[in-house]
Amino acid sequence: MKLAIASGKGGTGKTTVAVSLALSLASAAASPLFLDCDVEEPNAALFLRPEMMARRDVGLLIPAVDMARCTACGRCAEVCEYHAITVIGKQVLVFPELCHGCGSCPRRCPEGAIHETLNVMGTLEKGIAGAGAVEFFQGTLNVGEAMAVPVIRQLKQWAIPPDVGDRPVILDAPPGASCPVVETMRGADAVLLVTEPTPFGLHDLRVAVQVARDELGLPVAVVVNRDGVGDAGVGDAGIAAYCAAENLPILLRIPLERAIAEGIANGASLIDIRPAYRERFIALWNELRIMIHES
Ligand code: SF4
Ligand code: SF4
Repeated sequence: MKLAIASGKGGTGKTTVAVSLALSLASAAASPLFLDCDVEEPNAALFLRPEMMARRDVGLLIPAVDMARCTACGRCAEVCEYHAITVIGKQVLVFPELCHGCGSCPRRCPEGAIHETLNVMGTLEKGIAGAGAVEFFQGTLNVGEAMAVPVIRQLKQWAIPPDVGDRPVILDAPPGASCPVVETMRGADAVLLVTEPTPFGLHDLRVAVQVARDELGLPVAVVVNRDGVGDAGVGDAGIAAYCAAENLPILLRIPLERAIAEGIANGASLIDIRPAYRERFIALWNELRIMIHES
């Protein structure tokens, strides 16, 4: 079962929930796969402390032109939807930052003058965590690179075997609600949205629900983190009322407690700080399975 954990708003505790869920499932011998898809700022490794076993470059195949064969016919520029290749006089110019690696121009070149070369945009890493019980993957976009989606897509292709079946797959999504989040959620069986009971949390929860449920058609459930923070009249009542109105189950509430905040700030997982949460996360997983089955 593939579960994307997202939040809309950054800093709500999404990674705290994802890490704790993975460790809880690992303790129940479920051998989860954990993917840190926040490729612009991966940080789950700070909590899971994986031992890395493999690393590979990741990027897009972009065109490289053999000018000895090129006749400057301009066909490549005509077929490129992204204006990433252009012909000026006898010169062919490629703009790697615009190229989506779609492969159209090499296929359409009548002279066979275009071959593809890997434009490295980041790295993928694989390791083990949780005393060997969690298979850990993360992608890291190189500084200055703009396109996170290809890195996330290739991370998922590398990490998730076609026959993954019922094995838990936890996809820790980036913040926001744009293309990298959509790419993380794509193909998931459900989305768990982590929010906090503040007006900002409620606003971003609404946006995240629009993406996950209304656009992608995925079952959605909610975790409320820092329960008790802010103005209860605006915050918590707002989240609870919204979830009730939208028929979104709140599967877990994590209270605002100084000891939890301090522990997480020191790199501990929630279940290290409060071991009782292990059973709650396993129960949450089982509720999600039922929810998916019934959806
Ligand atoms: S399609 Fe091929 S031959 Fe024509 S301009 Fe482009 S690279 Fe040159
Ligand atoms: S590979 Fe696709 S996106 Fe890139 S330059 Fe060629 S046609 Fe354009």
